[in-house]
Amino acid sequence: MELRRNPTRAVRIGSITIGGGHPIAPQSMTATHTQDVAATLEQVNALHAAGAGVVRIAVDSKKDAAALPAIRAGTAANLAIDLQENYRLALEVAPHVDKLRYNPGHLYHHEPTKPWQDKVRLIADTAAANDCALRVGVNCGSVDPAKKEQFAEDDSIGPMLASALEHCSLLDSLGFTRYCVSLKDSDPQKVIEVNRRFAAERPDVPLHLGVTEAGMPPDGIIKTRIAFEQLISRGIGDTVRVSLTVANADKPQEIAAANAILADIAAGRVRSVVDYGLASLNIISCPSCSRVENEAFIDLAKQVKEMTAYAKDHAITIAVMGCRVNGPGETDDADLGLWCGPTHVNLKKRSEELGAFPYDEILPRLRGELDKLIAARTT
Ligand code: SF4
Repeated sequence: MELRRNPTRAVRIGSITIGGGHPIAPQSMTATHTQDVAATLEQVNALHAAGAGVVRIAVDSKKDAAALPAIRAGTAANLAIDLQENYRLALEVAPHVDKLRYNPGHLYHHEPTKPWQDKVRLIADTAAANDCALRVGVNCGSVDPAKKEQFAEDDSIGPMLASALEHCSLLDSLGFTRYCVSLKDSDPQKVIEVNRRFAAERPDVPLHLGVTEAGMPPDGIIKTRIAFEQLISRGIGDTVRVSLTVANADKPQEIAAANAILADIAAGRVRSVVDYGLASLNIISCPSCSRVENEAFIDLAKQVKEMTAYAKDHAITIAVMGCRVNGPGETDDADLGLWCGPTHVNLKKRSEELGAFPYDEILPRLRGELDKLIAARTT
């Protein structure tokens, strides 16, 4: 399936370009001590070999910054630097990397009397002078306190959004447009909402997507998958990271997981019901996992696709899910839903349950309901 994409502007990061219709780039971040050049390089190169479009490295001190020339010399990966409180380190690291990420919520720590706008100007000027892109990285756990004060205590999305939009406006006014934005939360639903709202206001700005502190696989991958399915199917997202709690040697799993999720979304193998914005039939089936209750699910998903081909010009969503854990809930949003049990397949019309049928009886039942839906929409 051709995924629709928001018309974001193209932003070059070293040898790759994100946005502007370019492929969605998976990214990752090193978890080694940056000053341990050998270990960091090993991880950077492992991530690069796994297909990371960009590899991010944390730089919190001058000693970390001093390790950058040797890291740069030892890899062909596109490197990004994660600046936290000490924004001035941008001056030292920019000559050796392709992108700088700063967090608007950390700019107040150093030189508190200096306006944040002056600090951003220094970062942007440094990036421009060193052929670097920028990422404005907003994180739920470290939102600018000045922004938080302007919103109700229970509104975590408002301050994140306002902070990101404010920094975009400043960068634009400085004439620096080679930037992307990220808005991360540990709750996938909040990630979906904040990114949708941002994309509605700034469809031109490329977005880097991620669920922060997602945890260990498989749960961390599932949480991230839910957010990516809902955003990427709507054209939102230009780069992605699946953040996983895994041993250093297993970090390339983040890239493999990101690639698997992106391929599944493009093929309609999704775990939540998504709207691809198609004016035609939308058949989605879960990617399947160890919870599948009957192997016949895989064949059934294929047969549903073949049997419903006659309805290809109707904007109807049919979801086929492999188990009772997610099937009953996730099919609520589909026009017609099937979720598979050990011996029977449950048929639903949105949240209405239509019955449970043996595997060899479900296809004609589905066809009957599909015909009724088409007739109701065309009369
Ligand atoms: S619906 Fe069930 S079988 Fe399918 S991916 Fe989700 S948990 Fe696994």
